[in-house]
Amino acid sequence: MYIDGKWIKAKNDVMFSVFNPANGERIGEVPDGDRRDATIAIEAAQKAFQPWSALTAYQRSGYLYAAYRIMMEQKEHLARVMTEEQGKPLKAARNEVQYGADFLLWYAEEAKRIYGETIPAPRPDQRFIVMHQPIGVVGAITPWNYPVSMITRKVAPALAAGCTIVLKPAEATPLCAIEVFKILEEAGIPRGVANLVTALNPKPIGEEFLANPKVRKLTFTGSTEVGKLLAQGAAAQMKRISLELGGHAPFIVFHDADPIHAAKGAILVKFLNTGQACISPNRIFVHNRVIADFVQEAKARVSIMRAGNGMEEGVRIGPLVGPKALKKVEHHVADALDLGATLVSGGHRLTENNLDKGYFYAPTVLNDVTQKMQIYREETFGPVAPIIPFESEEEVLEMANDTQYGLASYVYTRDISRAMRVFEALRFGIVGINDINPTAAAAPFGGMKESGIGREGGREGIADYLETKLGGFSV
Ligand code: ADP
Repeated sequence: MYIDGKWIKAKNDVMFSVFNPANGERIGEVPDGDRRDATIAIEAAQKAFQPWSALTAYQRSGYLYAAYRIMMEQKEHLARVMTEEQGKPLKAARNEVQYGADFLLWYAEEAKRIYGETIPAPRPDQRFIVMHQPIGVVGAITPWNYPVSMITRKVAPALAAGCTIVLKPAEATPLCAIEVFKILEEAGIPRGVANLVTALNPKPIGEEFLANPKVRKLTFTGSTEVGKLLAQGAAAQMKRISLELGGHAPFIVFHDADPIHAAKGAILVKFLNTGQACISPNRIFVHNRVIADFVQEAKARVSIMRAGNGMEEGVRIGPLVGPKALKKVEHHVADALDLGATLVSGGHRLTENNLDKGYFYAPTVLNDVTQKMQIYREETFGPVAPIIPFESEEEVLEMANDTQYGLASYVYTRDISRAMRVFEALRFGIVGINDINPTAAAAPFGGMKESGIGREGGREGIADYLETKLGGFSV
């Protein structure tokens, strides 16, 4: 763990093991921190807050630029650690490191743009000035599916704003977190500003983040279930919260789109990270007039996808994160088939060629999925593409919005009026129009409804770490 500028063991001296999900091999061990470690880390962050927030924006920016440069130099190393620990193919891991570094660069720049404003006051002898100040110590909890970029997406804006931070990474991917914090250390970021607490059991750490009054903000990326727990807990001390939670992205292909092009996009984004992404399409609505071509193309593309260890050249599908994830996928597919879905491709666990040592599931395409099936409502977080036929724009918009989630959505159409209508009507924080990757460090990422609160990335991403202060002056 990295606390107050030192690499230390947990207070209880216990360690826990980290495994490669592609083959079950033990690849390392890290300290198993508990609540006391979190308390010490928060203390360190609190001590560092005053001097860190008193630096000029240019000084804080300088540290983030340095961290960006080091992360770029170490891109290959980080990508390899990620593939070993999380399973995604090496090429995808490299892309993620780049995305992670982009946040360091973007917020190195944004640190210098925390502007205030003056507001015309109602009295002639009055002046209003608004300024923004860092909230204070931040408690951060990150997931395993994007184990580098989800860290920098929180740490970079927090530090740019002048906050200090204690981060608890997912128990499945602490090694990636350690690599990121080594970079922060090498960048010379002062002690106590960024602290890392690893733990096998996340609950006590979360409880300390909630109960300790020194923590003024909580930022979390993970399941809606845990997000709700944290939101409830944060209410007791009115801590600020940012939550990036689950999704159930619709992917709509209208009859005026090229079904081949749309299928290419759908399959690319669906099987990214083996479907383990909160912006992964979970319901692919295809117009009746183009569905035959779409399904045929999807089947052809899926059939040539190779699953395996992400370190091997040509592997497109990595393992699922663990046995529970595999069970959920198996369950969703069985339930859909029971209730009348058509199996187009896949539909089974992969065990040959030593894949049984990991958690592999064949890339799967289901057609004729209906609202009765679990997969229609619940996030699968796996390599299953459920296709649903539709007839009218009105009908498909109603179906697409009929979910408690509201993170990402995708639309394929060549009709500009339709694109605008649909963009306005979809109740999702992110809408990709003929675009399967509507994300970047410069763009606000986040969800409506039960997909979360707040935005990360972009201008909004730093606002979530700032308080607004109004000054009323009598002159
Ligand atoms: P997933 O299902 O994607 O693993 P989780 O929400 O369980 O999503 O995990 C996301 C992050 O939240 C991880 O870092 C995990 O350790 C953490 N986490 C899980 N349960 C709790 C909890 N009760 N309190 C605090 N953090 C938690």
